[in-house]
Amino acid sequence: MNEIEYKLYIDDVIRRVESARLRVSDHHIVKIVAVSKYSTSNEIKKLYNIGQRAFGENKVQDLEKKAQELEDLPLEWHFIGNLQKNKINKLLEINPALFQGLDSLELAHELQKRLVVKDMTLDCLLQINSAKEESKHGILPEDAITTYQTIQKECPNINLKGVMSIGAHSDDKELVKQSFLTTHAIFNKLEGATICSMGMSGDFELAIECGSNMVRLGSIMFNR
Ligand SMILES: *Cc1c(COP(=O)(O)O)cnc(C)c1O
Repeated sequence: MNEIEYKLYIDDVIRRVESARLRVSDHHIVKIVAVSKYSTSNEIKKLYNIGQRAFGENKVQDLEKKAQELEDLPLEWHFIGNLQKNKINKLLEINPALFQGLDSLELAHELQKRLVVKDMTLDCLLQINSAKEESKHGILPEDAITTYQTIQKECPNINLKGVMSIGAHSDDKELVKQSFLTTHAIFNKLEGATICSMGMSGDFELAIECGSNMVRLGSIMFNR
C-alpha cells in the first residue's frame, strides 16, 4: 500500500468508529489508540504521517525502544500491558501519557512508592477482568469499585482516569457484549472517571455501542 492507499484504508476504519459512536450519540466521542506492538518504528511513522498521534505498546522494553527511535515526533504513548514490579522505574522514565493496565492494589501501592520517590504523578486506568477469565489480568468486577476507591484514597500520585477491559474471549457475541456492559456499568459508578477503554480490532464497534470511549486498535490500523 502506498501512502494514499493507506490513508483511504485508515479513513475507512475511522468511518467505522464514527458510525458506531453516532449509534450511541452525537456527543459520544471515541479516541483511537493505535496498538503498535507488532509493528516497527517505520510503520508507526507511516501512520503518524496520515494523522495518528496516540500509540500503545504492551512491553516496557518495546515501548522504550520505539519511544526513543521516534522521540522527534510528538507522539502520545500508552502502556497497555501487564507491568512487572521490576519494570516500574523503567516505565516511569518513559513517562507515558496513560498506563492502562493497573491490575491490582498491590501494584498500585508499589507504583505509588516509586512515584513519590520520583516526585511524579501518572494517569492510569484500572484494568477489569470483566469476563472473569483465568488467562486475563485485572480486578474482578465485584471488587472493582472498592479497589478503585481504595487506590484513590491511598495512592495520591496515581491519577485514576477510568477503566480498561479486554472483551470476553469468545465467538459468542452476546458473551462479549455482556463483558463490555459489565465494565461500562462499573465505569458509570466511578466518581470522576472519564475514560472507558474497551474494544480491539475484532470487537471495537460492539465495544463502542456498549459505551467505550477509547478503542485500542492493533492489527486493523496496521493492516495485518
Ligand atoms: C494487542 C492488544 C490490543 C490490540 O489488539 P488487536 O486485536 O490487534 O487490535 C488491544 N489491547 C491490548 C491490551 C492488547 O494487548
